[in-house]
Formats: sequence, structure tokens, C-alpha cells
Amino acid sequence: MLFRAACLCSARIRAPEPVLRGHGRSYGSRYFLWERESRLARPVPVDIRVSVTVQQILSQSGNQRRHFSSWPSVREKLLSVRQASVLRYRIPFTLFSELCSLSTAYTQSGAPSEKHTGNMPTCEPFERLPKSVVPRHYELLLQPNLKTFVFHGKETVQVEVKEPTDKIVLNALDLSIKQAEYVCADGSLKPVSVVLSAENETLTLCFSSALPVGEGKLTLVFTGELNDKMKGFYRSKYTSPSGEERYAGVTQFEATDARRCFPCWDEPALKATFDIALRVPLKKVALSNMPVVSERELTPEEGRALVVEGGGKDEGEGGGGGGEEMQLRELRFSRTPVMSTYLVAVVVGEFDSIETKSGDGVLVRVYTPVGKAEQGQFALDVASKVLPYYKDYFQIAYPLPKIDLIAIADFSAGAMENWGLVTYRETCLLVDPENTSAVRKQWIALVVGHELAHQWFGNLVTMEWWTHLWLNEGYASFVEFLCVEHLFPEYDIWTQFVTETYIRALELDCLKNSHPIEVPVGHPSEIDEIFDDISYNKGASVIRMLHRYIGDEDFRRGMNTYLTRHQYGNTFTEDLWAALEEASCKPVGAVMSTWTKQMGFPTVRVAEQCQEGPSRRRLTLVQHKFCADGSTKGDSPLWMVPLTFSTSKCPDKVAHQMVLEGRTADVVLENVSNDEWVKVNPGTVGFYRTQYPSEMLAQFVPAIRDRSLPPLDRLGLLDDLFALVQAGQTPTVEVLRLMEAFGAEEDNFTVWSSISNCLGKLGVLLSHTDFQPLFYAYGRRLLGNVAARLGWDQRPDESHLDTLLRSLVLGRLGWYGDEGTIAEANRRFKSHASGEKLIPADLRAPVYKLVLSSGDQTTYDTMLKLYREADLHEEKDRISRALGAIKDEALLKRVLEFAMSDEVRSQDTVFVIISVAMTKVGRELAWSFLRENWQVLLERYQGGFLIARLVKSTTENFASEEKAQELEAFFREHPSPGTERTVQQSVETIRLNAAWLQRDKDAIHSYLSSVA
Ligand SMILES: [Zn+2]
Repeated sequence: MLFRAACLCSARIRAPEPVLRGHGRSYGSRYFLWERESRLARPVPVDIRVSVTVQQILSQSGNQRRHFSSWPSVREKLLSVRQASVLRYRIPFTLFSELCSLSTAYTQSGAPSEKHTGNMPTCEPFERLPKSVVPRHYELLLQPNLKTFVFHGKETVQVEVKEPTDKIVLNALDLSIKQAEYVCADGSLKPVSVVLSAENETLTLCFSSALPVGEGKLTLVFTGELNDKMKGFYRSKYTSPSGEERYAGVTQFEATDARRCFPCWDEPALKATFDIALRVPLKKVALSNMPVVSERELTPEEGRALVVEGGGKDEGEGGGGGGEEMQLRELRFSRTPVMSTYLVAVVVGEFDSIETKSGDGVLVRVYTPVGKAEQGQFALDVASKVLPYYKDYFQIAYPLPKIDLIAIADFSAGAMENWGLVTYRETCLLVDPENTSAVRKQWIALVVGHELAHQWFGNLVTMEWWTHLWLNEGYASFVEFLCVEHLFPEYDIWTQFVTETYIRALELDCLKNSHPIEVPVGHPSEIDEIFDDISYNKGASVIRMLHRYIGDEDFRRGMNTYLTRHQYGNTFTEDLWAALEEASCKPVGAVMSTWTKQMGFPTVRVAEQCQEGPSRRRLTLVQHKFCADGSTKGDSPLWMVPLTFSTSKCPDKVAHQMVLEGRTADVVLENVSNDEWVKVNPGTVGFYRTQYPSEMLAQFVPAIRDRSLPPLDRLGLLDDLFALVQAGQTPTVEVLRLMEAFGAEEDNFTVWSSISNCLGKLGVLLSHTDFQPLFYAYGRRLLGNVAARLGWDQRPDESHLDTLLRSLVLGRLGWYGDEGTIAEANRRFKSHASGEKLIPADLRAPVYKLVLSSGDQTTYDTMLKLYREADLHEEKDRISRALGAIKDEALLKRVLEFAMSDEVRSQDTVFVIISVAMTKVGRELAWSFLRENWQVLLERYQGGFLIARLVKSTTENFASEEKAQELEAFFREHPSPGTERTVQQSVETIRLNAAWLQRDKDAIHSYLSSVA
């Protein structure tokens, strides 16, 4: 997911003639090239735009290099743009075939038969499926065995042969194909060869002669394993109410794992309809995207038929191993709308459910573990209100007759938006009023809002390719806040957006190893890696900026146009811009492409402020790319920045707005007197940092103290300053002073979470020094007032945000060694553990950590006991993620072993290891542990975002060149597709930490000593 250099502005992309674009890039050892051809709706001559990195071309030798050079357009530019990272050129369509052969020639360079010298990379092509044969409709029958973990399947796919070909290529992985047959008007054909490629994840059927153009039916019989990797069709372990260990069969297909369940054209643009049928044991619940249309019991012979057809033994594999489970029934589900394969879902297992009808007549059901139906009530309420909300917002009704939300015990992501059957981690769906914290409930509302937003945005209208994944995720991550704001105004959720979403995106996106929102991806391992904070958080942040820029009314109208125009189809990012541009008459495409096609974001610096007479203020603004290492280059890229301003007369209102297009611009604000402050980016909506001259910054301090500056502006000021500190553009001492200006009176949760975020980062940095105790004392002074105001016990009338704030403040105060807080935590824990008086769910996480951080072997054993007794997954999470707080090294080693044990689900293991990495003593242990267990972890997760998360969190808190090199060396020897960028980001962060520490250590030390 990497893409950079010159941006193609959307105006050009939406040129009158269809445009075909290609990108080539080398990523790790892979090379790929693909074309954007679904724009080729009309048979007219077209141009192709191709990007190839210069390095790729220059790294070639001999024939390959000559191939590139013989291509006129390249040769012309090759010499002049040697310094550029990417080449772009337009060539006539007639040269396209040459381009293809070129890419083949290029990719063959790694083939063993070809001799080559030097450091030429091994190249392996990634190609999208050929479009000569495409699917129209699948009839899919699956029969999972929940005892033997084998599933049998049979499908008949109606396909259209668009051009004569003797090959059908589709996706399949980890399946074995038992029978294959193609039937068309000419009769029935058996393939002469059936080839599965694990590397390309394809199934290729070759026929003795070309298949005639037109319709045909491909029938395949296959089997696979219900795996334990949480992808494809997998098994999820649960404990029955009687204490028995059992398994459910569950699917998780996004991004590219439908191919692990049935052979299919597993690309989002190859949509089709589906008739799904399941053969399952009598008593099991079986669900799919659509409602059941028919159901019948099978005779034992029928139950074995598919197994026998697949070449399996007809004993023991039929239904489920014996007794009652041998009796099967078959459920047929009604036909789905035209949809992408990654949204297909089935679940088979034991569940309870509750249901209702939404205001607009859709059947809404929540499925929970057996005996826990009431824990689904909250999500049911939310979901049944969200559907009518979105219907009103998009002006399009939810298109299916039902929607199910189901909690799955083993689930790698948070939730998955399968059309009509949304799957969730238990902790993202279930609410137990006694044991669920306020912050968790809020999270569940957001996740439900997010997944239901996808039912329109993603499911009804789908990205054409994974490059546009951000459209799905960024948009849903934005809209979930709109909907939670509507349902729960008391959460004040938009202020939390800034700390939870916006700031995280800025923090990642200033790294050299970030990537643009829109990034070319090909191979599945690359797709996994873009499910990251850039796609989700930066995506949501720039959409929020756009929403402010064009206004809610135009935004809604544009969304309705977009969804209506493209329903049941696929889109490119530009299609959304086009609709919003029509609705708003603003240059949405031109503005937004600078944010989605370029990596990073700018700092807007107020270079000069000048009072012109009694009531005119002139500001001179300059934009530069903001880099984490503080470097500024004169020729850094430019963004079209929607700018807003507020003044102290009316702090909540936008006093002026404009779009900064060039490097620099002047703005004149009327009605501003000499002693008033002017703030850029009120509400912290624009995706950029602001840098003020010190006299302007000083003007804010009284407004921070008396809180006349709104919360989001207070936190925006702090966070921008902190970023400048990390980049070495401002001394750290400045930010320590500013936080003290907040300290005494600040009462807002969101501002505190931003302060806490800064304190956390400083704490990590200073853990590499010997004066950490001085910093802890500083932290205790900062937090003292607010902790005293809140106290330990919840007041009956207190706000949701005060509840969240208490947990944050007490946790940090105790972490900084406040003896009173630690003693109280221990006292409360004692009566909690004995069952005398339970600690409210909101306070448990900080209390567990404090108790462990001051605890010993006995404390650890008590925690484990509580863990084993806990029934609610959320509670297990809370305990296991606190374990790393313990300080004793021997016990920390036990925590790491525990993380890998059967007692912790794979989906949770990484978070337990991360909890160990969070402390000074645990950091080194966790890193060693990760290296020693790398093979096991790789095998366990087979790539995916959990392992990327683990690598990042275990390593990024180091702060020396030596560690940076250690990391590089280890991952050079242990490459793992899907974590390459994460490793680069970690290495970069470590070097930044080291530089920061070197730069400011002494000044911080003397400041902290002076105020101690
Ligand atoms: Zn999503």
C-alpha cells in the first residue's frame, strides 16, 4: 500500500475519454502491474497511464532494461527524471500489448531458468483474474462437519464466456477439487487439467478446445478444512452452558479469503448473485446473508451424498460424528442481491437470539452465546434505531429483508459487515449491565454504527479494487460518529473523534514510512496491511474535513446521488468526488485528491501577524509538509487546504474560511482588536498542524486557563505543539509549561485524554533516562486537582464523560506512584476479589493495573483466578491486558507464557504480549519473546493485522540506534509479508525517539528539577 509522487488530479482522471491507468511498483520482492480497465465501457481509443518506479527500471540489466528502453515514451523520460521516484507516461492504447509483454518479460527475470547477475530482485507477478470468463450467479452448497473440521462443498456457477478461451481461471486456496465440469450449449466438457496454485491462490481449468462465447455452467465439487486461523471458513471454539468444549463454523472473507471456502472470482468488482444452502446437524443454528426459504430433514443417504461425491468415506464424515449429530437438515436461503464475494457469510453453531423490527420494518436479530440473549439487548436497540437513521440520511432503504448481528467467540477483527449477517467479536457486541464499562458501551455503539453504515457504503456500492478500500473504511469510520451523535448526544462523541481517530492518523502519517490513503495493492498480503490507521483514521479525518468544507446538506445530497447512481456496482474514489462536486459546486475532486493521493499532510505556519489599525488583523500563512523528523524542504508538495479561523469575540464560530492553494497566502480578518486572539482550524477539523509565532501562542494561555477557548481548540493547540516538539521544532520544555497552564482547572475528558496521550509518550521517552521519578512527580502534580474533584465513587447525576475521565485520571495518577491512589486501589480490589463489594466496571481496568504494578505472586494468582472465573469476554480482556503491569521479571515471563497458552484465544494473545511491552522492564522481555517465538506466531496468524499490531507495539518504544539496527537485522533474516511497512515504521520511530532523547534530555531534566 504505497503510492506517491506527483498526484493525478481528479479533473484529469475524469477526462472525457476513458482512461486506463496502471501502476507498477516493487514492494519487497514482488512486482505487479494492473490496469484499471472497467472504465473501458466504450470501445474508443484510449490512453494508458503507467507508473513504474525508476528504481525498478534502473535495477534491471540486459534484456529487461532494453525492453523498457525500447519503449519510446519511457526512453525519452528515463534520462531526465532519473532523480524522480516514479515515472508516469501516457502511451497510446496500441502499445498496451507491448506493455503487457514487457511486464511479463520483467517478471520472468526472477525465473530460475533465466540467468541474471547482481542484486536483481526476484520478481513475481501479481495479476488480477482474466476477464474472459466472469461469474453471474453461484449456487453454493456447504456441509461443514464440526467434529472432524472437514467441510464438503458443491457449487454451480453460471458464467459468461466473453471471449473464446480454453481456460477458466478463478481463485481457490487450501481447497481440494474433487470434480469439475463445464456445461454449455455445445454439451458437457471435462477439463484436461485442473491446476491449483497456492502461490497465486488460483484454480486454473484447461480445456482441450476453446469454450464458446456465451453462457455456461461450471460445476465444482470440493472439500476443505474448517481451519483455526480465523480466516475463510473456520472453527470457533466455545464452551456450552454444561461446560463442554464445542465448535461453531464461521466465515471471515474480507479481504481475500472467500477463496478458502469455495472456488470463486474473489475480486470485489466481480459481483454476482448467490443461492446458498447449508447441510447442518438438526439442532444447530445456521445463518447466511439472506433469510431461509426452505428447510427439510435429510435422509442418511442424502446426508452422505455430498461426502461420497467428494470422494470421502461415507462413515463418520456425514453430519457430525454420531448420535443426534448424524441427522442433518438442509436449509436454503433466498437469493442475494448482486454482491461481492468478500461479503458472503455463513455461521453454524449454537446460539440464542433476540429480535425486533426496526422502525422501517426490517427484521433485526442479535445472536449471542447460549443463555446470554439479554446481553444482546443494547446492540439490538442500537441497530434497530440505526437502520431508520441511515435510511433517512442516505434516502435509500436498507435493501435486505433482515439483518443479523452475531457474536463470535474467535474473531480476529472487531467486526465484519457481511451483507445481512454482521459478525462481531464478543466484546464488540455484548453488554452485561453489571460488568460492561461505559467506554465499552460507547465502543459497541460505534462498531454497530460502523458495520451498518457499510451495508450501504461498501455492500450496496463497493470499491472497484482494494486500492479504494479507504473509501469503505474511512467513510464508515466517519459516519459511525454521525450516527452515535444522533443516538447518544450525551456521549459528546465528536470531541472523542479528535483524540481517538484524528490524532492517531496525524501521528502515523508524518512518518516517512506512511503511505497515501489511496495506495496500489495487489497480492493479498499487501491488502491485509492496509487495514491500518491510515485507511480508517486518516480516511475518516479527511472526510470530516470535507464534510465541514461543503456543509452537511450538500454532503447528504451528494451521498444520495453517489449511492443511487452506483448501487449494486463498483466505484473509484473519483466517483464519490464527482457526486459531491455536483451537489456542492465546489472543486471537491481537486481539493481531495491532494489529501488522498499524497502521503502526509502540511503544517500551516503563521509566518507573520500584523495588526492593521484598530480592528484589522493580517496573517501570512505558509504550508510545508510536516515531517516527523522536523525536516522541511522548500519544494515539499502542496495541498489544497480548506482553512478556517475563529477569534476571541466568538470562539465557537468560524469567522472566516478560505482554501489555501499555493505555498503561501495572506488573510485579513476584520473586527479583531489588538488584544484578541485569532485561532486557525477551530474545532480541529482540518487535517494539518498549525504553527504559531510565540506571541500568538502566548495570547491563548489566559483563554486556556479560563476555558473560554473551546475544548477541541485547547486540545488542538496542545497536540500541535507536542507534534512540533517531537519533530524538534520546539523545545520539550514548552509543552511541559503549556500542560501546567491546563492543569489546575481543566475539566474536559477529551482535553485530558490528549494531555494523557502526551504524558504517555513523554513517559516512554523518559523511561530511557535515570530521572523518570522527577517526571512522575510532575505528572502527580498535574493530575492532583482533577482527581480530587472526581473522587473514587460515581455520583448519581454525573455525566458520561466524567465517568470516563475518572478512570483515565486515577489510572495515570496511580501509575505515577501516587501512594494514596495505589492504597485505595488495593483496598477496593481486596473486597472485589473476595466478592464482598464489586468494583464498578468503569474502574476495573485502572485498578487491576495498579494492583498488579504493586503486586507479587499472590496478586498474580488472584488475577488468574478471576480470569478463569470470568464469563464475560470483556472482563477476561480487562484482566489479561492488565497482567503486563506486574514488575517482577519472573512473573512477566509467566505472563508471556500464559499469553501463548490454551487459556488465551489467539485473537487476544497479541494484546497480552503487548501489555508486557508497555513497561520499562517488560519491553526487552517482550521483544526477546517475540523473536524467540516468531515462527510460532507467524504460523498461528499467517500474516494479517494482528501480527502487524504486535510488531509495532512491541518495538516502537525503543530509543536507540542500536535497537533500530537490531530490528532491521532481525526482520531482514525473518521476512514476513504483510508486516514490512510496520517494521519500517517502527525502525523510523525508534530513530526519532533516539534523536528526541538526545536533543532534549538535559533541558527536560533541568526543568523537571527546577519545578520539583
Ligand atoms: Zn469497516
